[in-house]
Amino acid sequence: MNFLKNFRSCRSFIRHFSSNSTLSSRKEINKEIRTRLAAAYRGLDSYGLNEGVCNHLSAIAPSSKIDEDIMLIIPFHLHWSEVTPSKLVEVNNKHEVVQGEGKPETTALCIHQGVYRKRPDVKSVMHTHMPYASTLTCLQQPELLMLHQNSCRFYERIAYDTEYSGLGESFEEGNRLGAALGQKNVLFMGNHGVLTAAESVDVAFDYMYYLERAAMIQVLAWSTQQNLKEMDKNVIELTTKQIHEFLPQYARRHLESVIRRLKTSKDFL
Ligand SMILES: [Zn+2]
Repeated sequence: MNFLKNFRSCRSFIRHFSSNSTLSSRKEINKEIRTRLAAAYRGLDSYGLNEGVCNHLSAIAPSSKIDEDIMLIIPFHLHWSEVTPSKLVEVNNKHEVVQGEGKPETTALCIHQGVYRKRPDVKSVMHTHMPYASTLTCLQQPELLMLHQNSCRFYERIAYDTEYSGLGESFEEGNRLGAALGQKNVLFMGNHGVLTAAESVDVAFDYMYYLERAAMIQVLAWSTQQNLKEMDKNVIELTTKQIHEFLPQYARRHLESVIRRLKTSKDFL
């Protein structure tokens, strides 16, 4: 099966990749998800949304090594611009690296696995300290306002956590953040950053990009010190419906534009 050309059917397959899959199909799916996750690191890096060698994106995939589903994630100290599919490590549900060199940062393990434990429907989690969205998390009343078309894709999809209590270096904190996310797709982590959670790498990546754009518009609108014009509820609901009807396809095309660019560079594949 050509997974790049037919990723829509692949995605539905991935939702059910479990012990029913053959070893070769599991390896192919692992390879495909590695490529997409590595491209998400590179793409968000090109948009300036990472911070130093911190922040992390992950995805659930069948292991290339063992007969289990694992979490793919960046090893600590690797810059996002250096990520390739083969440099991602595989972590099992006991927090052990079962394939790859290096270990993830402790907070990465705690935060991401905390979300996956609470949300079996989520197959990709992304956490950044991207500047405009993180700015909103530092407000006493953090809220993404419905000011712009880009804001509408997050209508009723954001949870707000205002209980910042340190670096999140414990599994209890990961579980708390997972619970704070609830059934939403975005978590505003008070005084810290943001997290997106979705059924695929494509959608988690796309959410991250548009969340920063929506937050940027809000901060820039405030900077004018003029009165804001929020949209009417009917318009918000219509726009949200229109966006979400095709969001998986748009998200796939967005990430594939990054993959196309990366395939021209020898250091990616
Ligand atoms: Zn963080």
